[in-house]
Amino acid sequence: MIIIKKTDALQDFLGKKRSEQVSIGFAPTMGALHAGHISLVAEAKKQNQIVVCSIFVNPTQFNDPEDFKKYPITIEKDIQLFEIAGCDVLFIPLVEDIYPNGTKGLQQYDLGFLETVLEGKFRPGHFQGVCQVMHRLLEIVLPDNLYLGQKDYQQCMVIKKLIELIGLYDKIKTNICPTLREPDGLAMSSRNTRLLPDDRIKAATISDALRYIKEHLKTGDTKNVLDSARDMLLKNGFKIDYVGMHDADTLEVVEKWNGEQKIVALAAAFLNNIRLIDNMVINP
Ligand code: AMP
Repeated sequence: MIIIKKTDALQDFLGKKRSEQVSIGFAPTMGALHAGHISLVAEAKKQNQIVVCSIFVNPTQFNDPEDFKKYPITIEKDIQLFEIAGCDVLFIPLVEDIYPNGTKGLQQYDLGFLETVLEGKFRPGHFQGVCQVMHRLLEIVLPDNLYLGQKDYQQCMVIKKLIELIGLYDKIKTNICPTLREPDGLAMSSRNTRLLPDDRIKAATISDALRYIKEHLKTGDTKNVLDSARDMLLKNGFKIDYVGMHDADTLEVVEKWNGEQKIVALAAAFLNNIRLIDNMVINP
């Protein structure tokens, strides 16, 4: 595995590969790796001749400065894990390489409705930051295939929209990989390492609640099943941002389900000051 820190060096390297018709898969991360990240690399390896991964904790997507300060950093271990996973090129830029003119006054993107619901509503500015970093990374790497995790359901939709907005829709195929979970069901996340031991045990309630919704949802009103899921979280000490039922393609709220619409249940909630998110798609 080659480690590249400078944008120009990465562009030179990949430019040569591209001219040799080598297919490039790309899995961007913020590091603090777990098996979920590695599953993206595994998928990318199956479908591409070269796999590029990045580690960059993007300051512009943290709407909470405390969350940014405390974001786990395990760079040495990450390098080993990427190497074992078969990553070919690891890109580890500095903030000044990604944002040479600083992080103020960066481009804003018209994400429309997507930015008004769920994560967009509860984390103002977050998706603008995601777009700012992804725009840069995609222009630098120009992958044939991009690998994202379903764990961040709305983020996948935002990045797909970004790819359209920046005119790369015909060049980059987005591949959404399933959410990897701990044995108790908790979706793997870098932030899980920050949970206190007691909270770690309670944390699986978020996936239990979504599974409850999936198993108990009937056609008609979605309110009762969502209320029960909220109760499960409240009883376990969560502070809820949202537990909602939405159209799987548009994220419009679904108050009444006709049994045929493809929908997704999504939740975000805090245990102490650690914010966890998860989702489950409900296929008719
Ligand atoms: P992050 O480092 O949290 O920015 O995540 C980097 C990529 O890994 C994103 O595309 C995430 O959606 C994906 N990812 C994070 N957690 C998981 C998981 N538990 N299973 C699968 N993919 C994940």
